Amino acid sequence: MPQKKKKKAVLSKSTFIKGLQCPKALYLYKNRYFLRDPVSPEQRAKFNRGTIVGVYARDLFPGGVDASPKTHFQMAQSVEKTAALIEEGQTDVIYEAAFSFEDVVVALDILYRENGQWKGMEVKSSRKISDTYRWDAALQYYVISGSGLELKDFSIAYINKDYVRQGDINIHNLFITESLLSHVKKLKHETGEKISQLKEVAALKKSPDIPIGTQCHSPYPCEFIGHCWKKIPRDSVLKLQGIPGEQKFEWHHQGLQSAGQVYDQLENPADFQKQMESIEKGETVADKGLLTQFMTENPGREKIYQSAYFAPVVPLFDQTSPYQHLPFAVFSTPVEHFNPQAHLVKPGMFPAKEITGQLAQINQEADTIWVFDASYEKSILEFLRQFVPDQSELIQNFISKLKDMGQAFEKGYVIKPSFIQPDTPEKILQHLGQEPQELPPKIIIPQQADALYQKLWRLEEVEEKHEGVNGLTTYVVNRGENLFRLFKLLKTLSV
Ligand code: SF4
Repeated sequence: MPQKKKKKAVLSKSTFIKGLQCPKALYLYKNRYFLRDPVSPEQRAKFNRGTIVGVYARDLFPGGVDASPKTHFQMAQSVEKTAALIEEGQTDVIYEAAFSFEDVVVALDILYRENGQWKGMEVKSSRKISDTYRWDAALQYYVISGSGLELKDFSIAYINKDYVRQGDINIHNLFITESLLSHVKKLKHETGEKISQLKEVAALKKSPDIPIGTQCHSPYPCEFIGHCWKKIPRDSVLKLQGIPGEQKFEWHHQGLQSAGQVYDQLENPADFQKQMESIEKGETVADKGLLTQFMTENPGREKIYQSAYFAPVVPLFDQTSPYQHLPFAVFSTPVEHFNPQAHLVKPGMFPAKEITGQLAQINQEADTIWVFDASYEKSILEFLRQFVPDQSELIQNFISKLKDMGQAFEKGYVIKPSFIQPDTPEKILQHLGQEPQELPPKIIIPQQADALYQKLWRLEEVEEKHEGVNGLTTYVVNRGENLFRLFKLLKTLSV
């Protein structure tokens, strides 16, 4: 007998959340998928991190059966497998248990049975529960209970930021588990309504008429910005920095689309003069006086310094917490010419002593230490300090010499407006029309370097390990060169 074709689900967890953020994003995703912006490495890294944490959390309920499908396109098989496992009753724990109801399919991280009653748990890699996670839970509960399985509890497990490792990892302390049962029950009716509305949106013949707004960046950067924002004028009011987003969109929707049109409405117009000039010309504008002062007021010998970090979600060392940022490499160069000094800590070693040795040398050779994001570098150094109490004075002295290149942009000495402010030396260089030094493939953002360094801890294969170390060393040196290029650019702009 020919097999009856399985009906494809209209919504999933991710499309439901997308639709809550902006129904138009859901419509475009379902009907004009090709209009999506390319997935950024940051988004990919975030997704990978979530997967790793999800797998790790299985130790909360070990020994379960995995019901996940081979690919995302085979969710229907996963639903069948879950139903069969529940029916057979041989296991009390199912990972990635999938359910379908009213054309919505969801996969739950952990389904477990206690005292004969099924309970659900969703795992999150973040350190707090957001509104999005609450809606995510509400959808899952709606679908699971609608499909016929009564859940005695529904909880979210997320990372306990206050956990400090002492000896072996205590998985039950590493995660915080919070029941959302009463919340998801309360939202049941509303969830059903939202599902119906979003299904209608997905089936529309043409894109819903939804203007751009603060929802384009919150809670997540939308993947259709390139499409929806393409007609925004070059001198748009939305480029003004230092004005709340709501206000800028209000002006934009009132038809005051160019920045110059709102100048008279600004509270302190003088503060925005340089920005206005830059927006109108579409060029970089530097306040030469202030920039020169900023670049030249520094005492003595100058060096450029940058650390590279790793932040394991499961702490690797005693006295450290989840996502604790630890340096795995440091870089420095004199400001006069590019002469890179890079040091990578051998994977598997606690970095405090080695890094401090490097700091001692840089500290000896410099009176001013240029960095990008001084408060970040400072927080890492402050943390290291507790592990090398005999070097406390050295670290304090090092910190006191830090000077932040990023301040030139934050304080408006150099302005070139954009809708979102670039936040790394590489992005700033590109934004200002300069070519950054290329970073190694697949190690172009700190999160990727972090993931690779952590992978090196587990790697047995010598050649692969060697390759990884080389890649990371190139990453550290080339990023350092970009900071050096940024420094040179600031010098050029100041004269
Ligand atoms: S870019 Fe903005 S308006 Fe367009 S789909 Fe995304 S959130 Fe909606």
